[in-house]
Amino acid sequence: MKLYNLKNHQELVDFETAVKLGLGQKQGLFFPVELPVLKPIELSKILNMDFITRSTEILSKFIHHEISKKQLYKHVQEAFSFTHPLKINITKNIDCLELFHGPTLAFKDFGARFMAQMILLMNKKNETVTILTATSGDTGAAVAHAFYGMKNVRVIILYPKGKISSLQEKLFCTLGKNIKTISINGSFDDCQKLVKEAFNDKKLKESIGLNSANSINISRLLAQICYYFEAFSLISEEQRKNLVIAVPCGNFGNLTAGLLSKALGLPIKSFIACTNSNDTVPRFLTSGKWHPNKTISTISNAMDISQPNNWARIEELFNRKKWNLKELRFGSVSDDATKKALKELFALGYTSEPHAAIAYQLLKDQLKEGEFGLFLGTAHPAKFKNTVEKILNNQITLPNELNNRVNLPLLSYNINPDFQKLKQFLITK
Ligand SMILES: *Cc1c(COP(=O)(O)O)cnc(C)c1O
Repeated sequence: MKLYNLKNHQELVDFETAVKLGLGQKQGLFFPVELPVLKPIELSKILNMDFITRSTEILSKFIHHEISKKQLYKHVQEAFSFTHPLKINITKNIDCLELFHGPTLAFKDFGARFMAQMILLMNKKNETVTILTATSGDTGAAVAHAFYGMKNVRVIILYPKGKISSLQEKLFCTLGKNIKTISINGSFDDCQKLVKEAFNDKKLKESIGLNSANSINISRLLAQICYYFEAFSLISEEQRKNLVIAVPCGNFGNLTAGLLSKALGLPIKSFIACTNSNDTVPRFLTSGKWHPNKTISTISNAMDISQPNNWARIEELFNRKKWNLKELRFGSVSDDATKKALKELFALGYTSEPHAAIAYQLLKDQLKEGEFGLFLGTAHPAKFKNTVEKILNNQITLPNELNNRVNLPLLSYNINPDFQKLKQFLITK
């Protein structure tokens, strides 16, 4: 597989290099040179396969001979060794695709665990690898658990202090061993900036074997394509004809993966890019102007991002496929409207959480006659227990994954958003 840097098309790398580097020169994202397309006959064959076999086929379409199918199958099986996506019926023409049945109860388990498998496979010489990542809440947990206890891998996770739910924090800041967590006195965008600065420091990068596990890492994106095919395989022939998928967006990795599944030939009619009040993209799609505002804290905190990294990939994909950005549906939902949507879902018999509720609301607003809608359930409601209980006035029981960690002490360090401080930490801890 060949990939180019979006900021310097001359920088060409193979899959292994892209996974190891995370970002290219000038902090550019990597993008595939070839965009494979499945023939209709291949598509129907693939849809009938089981999840692991199908996912191997899809990933192999991109990765090609760099990893043999047999070897890839083994790693996909290891990565996706938890309950696969579930489809839950909500109304006559709307279903939820629950992607949160992995070990850290969010869809990020798919990408993080596949990436961990790829790093394991590629670290043939057993060199020391430092995984540095910024999280708006769920990536941290998924990455930490995916690499927990792995030899020669040190994981450092930055998160905005006080801006993630306390249960999210408990899930990954209580692990210890090779997992180090740092709360940053700032926003997620500040954390993301620190990670980028670390990558820009060539000497540092080489001396500690720096690798990023953000959704900017291509291995995570590719892994996420797989559950869009699973979603399609789970719905009826009739529903497949006019499928609209609403994606709760933060850094826009999930939506990028969905659009890549469409580029591969999965006939999804339309996507809805759903944000909370951090609405840089919806405003951009309305006015054509890219004007990120200061990041606002909302009840859907994993989406509190005003400078979404993956947007550059989405624009590139639209250009390459000659699609029109006007066809991308979008919208933003305030906290008040999110609460209302959550209550409405509850009245329909479904306990959800703020991120998915945003997608549900926009789907309901924008679904046309004859269309069938899926919204992505990106996290388990228990991760946002306090918020959800307050809104619904109803108790949520903690699944074991969380219950086991609630009473453990937090092991996080705390620093200001100052790169020199982070650098010192990276070299000495
Ligand atoms: C990360 C996350 C999102 C946003 O996903 P992106 O790929 O960053 O757009 C949405 N909901 C939840 C619960 C998340 O953890």
